Amino acid sequence: MLQEINHTFITLIPKVDIPQNVTQFRHISCCNILYKAISKILCTRVSAVLPDLINKAQGGLIKGRSIVENILICEDLMLKALNFPGKTMELIMTCVRSKSYSLVLNGENFGYFKGAKGLRQGDPISPLLFTISMDYLSRILNHVTSIMPFKYHPLCAQMQLTHLMFADDLLLFSKGDIPSVMVLLSEGVLPFKYLGVPISAGKLSIKHCYGLIEKITERIRGFAARVLSYAGRLTLVNLVLTSLYSYWATIFVIPKGYTTTSGYCWIRHSQPVVTWDKAVWNSWCISKNSFINWLIAREALLLKDKLLQIGVVADSACCICGADTESHRHLFVQCQHTQKLVKLLSCKLNVKLPAVYLITWIQSKPWAKVKKNVIIAWIQALYYAIWHQRNKSRLEGVLDQPEVVLKQISSMLLMRSIFWLKCIKKSSDETWVKSINY
Ligand SMILES: [Zn+2]
Repeated sequence: MLQEINHTFITLIPKVDIPQNVTQFRHISCCNILYKAISKILCTRVSAVLPDLINKAQGGLIKGRSIVENILICEDLMLKALNFPGKTMELIMTCVRSKSYSLVLNGENFGYFKGAKGLRQGDPISPLLFTISMDYLSRILNHVTSIMPFKYHPLCAQMQLTHLMFADDLLLFSKGDIPSVMVLLSEGVLPFKYLGVPISAGKLSIKHCYGLIEKITERIRGFAARVLSYAGRLTLVNLVLTSLYSYWATIFVIPKGYTTTSGYCWIRHSQPVVTWDKAVWNSWCISKNSFINWLIAREALLLKDKLLQIGVVADSACCICGADTESHRHLFVQCQHTQKLVKLLSCKLNVKLPAVYLITWIQSKPWAKVKKNVIIAWIQALYYAIWHQRNKSRLEGVLDQPEVVLKQISSMLLMRSIFWLKCIKKSSDETWVKSINY
């Protein structure tokens, strides 16, 4: 193999702001793509036969062996020895022996040295060889326990289980007498952590779950979560947090005392009661409108008054009229464009809409359910359209006529009105809804 093909860059990434010594760098080795292709092909071929060769006690790194299965059981040269063909062995050993390294620091690479021992991180062959060598250890353990005075752990005797492995974690099991323990030379204290979850002889208590809670809050409060968009945060909650929880929940029964509600309250702390919740989170509305209206109610949209404060824009003039500072109050209440739209909507709904923030205003209206919900849905759609118009004006420099915007809102709500009609019992209500929507 050409030396250049098996050359690896070790990138040093500083863990702290001003690193003083080598341990303050994280090293990541980067093999080149050609080598990765070669080793990946080798791996794929060898992996096909691995499940038949490797001892059942090794749980990680092999396709089809699940990490979870291993924990469940827990709770309850090798190439030659395995008879690989000579050609395959030669190819693998060439990959392992011919490696060389350069260090990358601050974007520049330095030096050149041959690799003497060990496996490379990022090399597809590494996990494969590691699995095979761990299997060798596995065989030795099985052999030693069969010839020495060794007694199995009472729960492991039936399966003749002496150890479990997951990747580089090794758990040894034996009866608690000195000769047996001496065979394995291992001792430990329960509960201990295995694959990130606590292993305990008895039932898991709330105390043992602190780790899970810590992990979840760490991710929510972490730096990455703060800079994520709303869609990103939703994905974070759905994927990362749920998978963390379900990983634990597939292994243990999570102790009582933790509910979704209590967890939610615990993370967000107590918040003051708001006056707009029912008008914002309303099932008659389109959910994307509700979301934007929630942001408006909390004054959380990034309008130009805020953007100016953080230095993103140079002026704070309203993107639509340019006459005043673009704040929530201006954009959704005072702006000329908004006032024209509200007037048009008043005529369409045949309801007098005042020049105030309409979501808080409507919440206190003593109207019948149908009328109130339909008007809330229209107001939410109106505010969504205003936000949309504002962005269109800012990014594309164009603005639609108020009549056109109202048509857009109307077609946006057309599909939703089919759902409204299903909920309506009185024929007078039905006529009214049809008169404004069709
Ligand atoms: Zn304006």
